[in-house]
Amino acid sequence: MKDRKASQLLESFLDGRSAPCPDCGYDLRDLEFGDERPICPECGGQIRIEVRLLKDHWNLRERKRRRGGSLVVKIVIAVFVAFILLTILANVALMLTGR
Ligand SMILES: [Zn+2]
Repeated sequence: MKDRKASQLLESFLDGRSAPCPDCGYDLRDLEFGDERPICPECGGQIRIEVRLLKDHWNLRERKRRRGGSLVVKIVIAVFVAFILLTILANVALMLTGR
């Protein structure tokens, strides 16, 4: 039952739309499977329709994650530089006041 529905979804996807077989590149456009298992007529590989995330989406998430990581590094460096500057200023102030 589920297979028939998936097969119908695949048929309507291929209806008027060119799509190469992932294995052999045969154009699966307008194929109908009826009650048969959906297979590529050229190589005999089984075909199915599925949901996937785009690779670009993953890259975007990864870039955001890395940017977040580098922000933490920038903050640590900024705090370190501020600490050094304050230490230098405190020493200069001590030298000027002569204590
Ligand atoms: Zn094929």
